[in-house]
Amino acid sequence: EKLNEGLEKSKSSFFGKLSKAVAGKSKVDDAVLDNLEEVLISSDVGVATTIKIIDRIQERVSRDKYLGTDELNQILREEIAGLLSEQEHGNYESLYIPEGVKPYVIMVVGVNGVGKTTTIGKLAQQFKNQGKKVVLGAGDTFRAAAIDQLQIWADRVDVPIIKQKMGSDPASVAFDTVQSAVKKDADVVILDTAGRLHNKVNLMNELTKIKRVMQKVVDDAPHEVLLVLDGSTGQNAFEQAKQFTAATEVTALAVTKLDGTAKGGVVIGISDQFKVPVKYIGVGEGINDLQIFNKYEFVDSFFN
Ligand code: GDP
Repeated sequence: EKLNEGLEKSKSSFFGKLSKAVAGKSKVDDAVLDNLEEVLISSDVGVATTIKIIDRIQERVSRDKYLGTDELNQILREEIAGLLSEQEHGNYESLYIPEGVKPYVIMVVGVNGVGKTTTIGKLAQQFKNQGKKVVLGAGDTFRAAAIDQLQIWADRVDVPIIKQKMGSDPASVAFDTVQSAVKKDADVVILDTAGRLHNKVNLMNELTKIKRVMQKVVDDAPHEVLLVLDGSTGQNAFEQAKQFTAATEVTALAVTKLDGTAKGGVVIGISDQFKVPVKYIGVGEGINDLQIFNKYEFVDSFFN
């Protein structure tokens, strides 16, 4: 329900444009395909993924000469769902942690302003709602505001936060955080990291060091490297995905701000191009506005 409300803008826009693309046509021809291509591009699906989708539809058109426009929706829906990867745990209701992993360590990466802190706060709340013990780590030591913002969320959710003063070594904060989590017998660690995109080598070194140091306390930490992307920023989100996946092994995506954009197609393109599953989507500023990504629901919110 909330998803549909949240995605109303993407949906009406995508579907509206799509309807226009096929208006007055009874069968899928070159003009329809051209219009469709435009709709996909303007919804920020991205060029490579758009071409892939158009190629597949063209293939079906040439196979089935009289493909009707009514069938186009169904085919698009199938093709798009096929390109989206999501976490395979089959539970869209509550956050999932593999059994026997404790503490489960989530390292959150992404540039400033994408909604990293908010996403951490929302995750902390949802884990807490499940009765899980959560510890936050203020690993973005580069900006005082980042530490303060995370503190505000820690207070709001009422979970402990491990922090040091601005300018301290993020790896040292990461170490303290996992150590404290083990001592507290916590279930989940959510570690913030610096959100500046300096050069690739620095980013890689910083994230590698944080991982290495955490592994001194928890062997296989981090269990999840969650890249947060702002779904309303189109090509910037693509670029950030490219940089972060090159710098570290990103295991999951959180795509934020899908409530306020006509460009939800970015989820499709990024998921296809980087082969990283979308795990969460942000559909508002409130503490409950984080949802577990369900690709069928997402695709249907575009087409229904
Ligand atoms: P950070 O710099 O990456 O930590 O970003 P913040 O978490 O501080 O978020 C930046 C702004 O985006 C804040 O005003 C948030 O309320 C807002 N924000 C975060 N997630 C969402 C979302 O899913 N939808 C909307 N509409 N706003 C969001």
